[in-house]
Amino acid sequence: MRTDPYQVLGVGRQADEAEVKKAFRRLARELHPDVNAHDPGAEEKFKEAASAYEILSDPERRATYDRYGHDGLRTGGQEPDFGAFGSVSDLFDAFFGAGGGGGGGIFGFGGRGPAQGADAQATVEIDLAEAATGVSTEVEIEVVDRCERCSGNGAQPGTPIRTCERCGGAGALRASTRTPFGQVVRQVECDVCAGEGKVPEHPCERCAGRGREVARRSLSVDVPAGIADGQRIRVTGRGHAGEAGAPAGDLYLLVAVRADERFVRDGDDLVTAIDVAAPLAALGTELAAPTLDGDVDVEIEPGTQPGETIILRGRGMSVLQRPGRRGDLRVIVNVVVPRRLTREQRDLTRRLADSITEENLRSDESLLGKLKRALHV
Ligand SMILES: [Zn+2]
Ligand SMILES: [Zn+2]
Repeated sequence: MRTDPYQVLGVGRQADEAEVKKAFRRLARELHPDVNAHDPGAEEKFKEAASAYEILSDPERRATYDRYGHDGLRTGGQEPDFGAFGSVSDLFDAFFGAGGGGGGGIFGFGGRGPAQGADAQATVEIDLAEAATGVSTEVEIEVVDRCERCSGNGAQPGTPIRTCERCGGAGALRASTRTPFGQVVRQVECDVCAGEGKVPEHPCERCAGRGREVARRSLSVDVPAGIADGQRIRVTGRGHAGEAGAPAGDLYLLVAVRADERFVRDGDDLVTAIDVAAPLAALGTELAAPTLDGDVDVEIEPGTQPGETIILRGRGMSVLQRPGRRGDLRVIVNVVVPRRLTREQRDLTRRLADSITEENLRSDESLLGKLKRALHV
């Protein structure tokens, strides 16, 4: 069920263009990863807000939506698809210009100075056990960085840097065009010095005078205990280098937690299952259950029924940003009825079956209780 774009942005049906834009700006700021690095729901909410803005900011789409709802947009082939964007940062960049700061866009950050570096992204893959305890790990990243050889000034070390002859050091050129309204003069960036006002006499061999280069960097990162698959870690100032004098962007690390076939994660809890042969479940026994800290013996009470759950307190995941707190491990007892019996086993089982009385089958559990247990609710 798709949500109503008016509701998503919190505006009325009569809201004009300016109100729609204002509402989206406010929401987008709240949901930006700078503010919401640890809220996995923020990305979905941002996409929803972006989708709502796409519809309401376009008069044609808005009219179609008002008359036919989401179905009208679908048949018209006008449904925006934000699934193609890798992350909310990508999506944010697409709307507001990369880096968030320099681009202007509808945020109107304005103020032209040396531009801050753009944000970079990388993925860090860890095991479930590492997610539970937290881990310090090395991440290889590829970022635009200051050239090591020329320290970013673009000149071969020891060679002079001269004032740009084409623009006289201003970094900008005036271009005049004749139009029906008369002569129009515009300022454009100098094509020789790219706005720097200075040109190295001998461009640096390593970066061809650009002052920056793409570099592979190894970065050590502390992944906090309790992190979940798909969450992001923001490392301030470790993104792409900015223009001279401006700070670098941030690095966003997407955490991928490798599946562990022994456990299913349920929030801060873990769930596992152990097999118990039906006769042992009837007699009671002790069995090893896997935990993140190694196997632990658990007591199977005599008469344990299929699907009963044993809770091992504090054997689950660590709780994010709550040091020392851990969830539980729920061990589901999977009572297995023996298959492919030998002749002797068949005889023994037959004798057992013949001896079963009403008393053996009596349970204090109601029918509803049995159903709930079978359905794990
Ligand atoms: Zn260089
Ligand atoms: Zn110039």
